[in-house]
Amino acid sequence: MLVAGNWKSNKSFNEAKEFANAIAAMPQAPAGVEVMIAPPAPYLAAMGDAQPPFRLGSQNVSATGSGAHTGEFTAEMLAGCGVQDVIVGHSERRDGYGDDDKVVAEKVSRVLDAGLRVIFCCGESLQDRQSDVHFDKVLRQMESAVLHLPAEVMDRVVVAYEPIWAIGTGLTATEEQAQEMHAAIRGWLREAFDDATAKSIPLLYGGSCKPANADALFACEDVDGGLIGGAALDPDSFRALVEAAGRVSALRMQAGAEAS
Ligand code: PEP
Repeated sequence: MLVAGNWKSNKSFNEAKEFANAIAAMPQAPAGVEVMIAPPAPYLAAMGDAQPPFRLGSQNVSATGSGAHTGEFTAEMLAGCGVQDVIVGHSERRDGYGDDDKVVAEKVSRVLDAGLRVIFCCGESLQDRQSDVHFDKVLRQMESAVLHLPAEVMDRVVVAYEPIWAIGTGLTATEEQAQEMHAAIRGWLREAFDDATAKSIPLLYGGSCKPANADALFACEDVDGGLIGGAALDPDSFRALVEAAGRVSALRMQAGAEAS
C-alpha cells in the first residue's frame, strides 16, 4: 500500500518543516505501507537534506532536458535533491498548465530515464462520466503515456486514478466506481504487458479521500493506496490515512499467508 500526499501550493517553509517533524515523531509506518509527501518544489532540496521518514515526491518535472529553459527543473535535478517519486499528469496541470498527453508522456519518460519512480495520474471529467466515456478516457490516457514504456521500467510506475469531479470537491467515488475503474486499469496493464506486471503495479485512488472513507476505499480489491490532497495537509489526518492503509495491508498479508 502507498499513501502519497500532494500538498499542491500550500504551506510556508516553516510549516513544511513542522509537518516533517510531526511525522518523524509518530510511530513508523505500518508493515507493507509506504508513505510519500510531495511538498512545493522550492522546499525539496532542504527536505531531501533532512532525510525525512517518508519518500520525497515532486509535484512536477520539466518535459525538457537541461539547457536554456527558464524556470524549468529536470528529473536529474530532482534526483540530486533526494526526490524519489514524481507526480505526472495531475488534472490540475493537464487543465491549467498545458500538460497535454504528449507533454505528459514526455515527462513520464524523463522521470523514468532519471531512475525515479513516476506516479502517473489519469481520470475523467464529470462530463466524461455522464456521457459514459469514462473508461475510454482513462484507458486512452494510459495508452498515450504508458504503452510505449519498456517492460524493465514498469517496477517504477505507479498509477493514480483520480476522477476530476472528486478532486478537492468533497465528492468521492463510491467503492464500486473506484474498484471498477481500477480493475479496468489492471486489465489494460495485463493486456499491454503481462499478468505479473499488472499485479505488481500499485494503483492509487485520489479524490477527496479522507480518514472517514479511506478504510472502505483502500479495502477495494484493486486499490493499493491513495493520492491525497486536502487530507494530507494536516499531520493527524494524514497519519490516520497511513493507519487505514496499515489495516488493509495487515488483512492482505494475512490472506496471502493463509493462501500459501
Ligand atoms: C489530488 O489533488 O490529487 C487530490 C486527490 O486532492 P483531494 O484529496 O483534495 O481531492
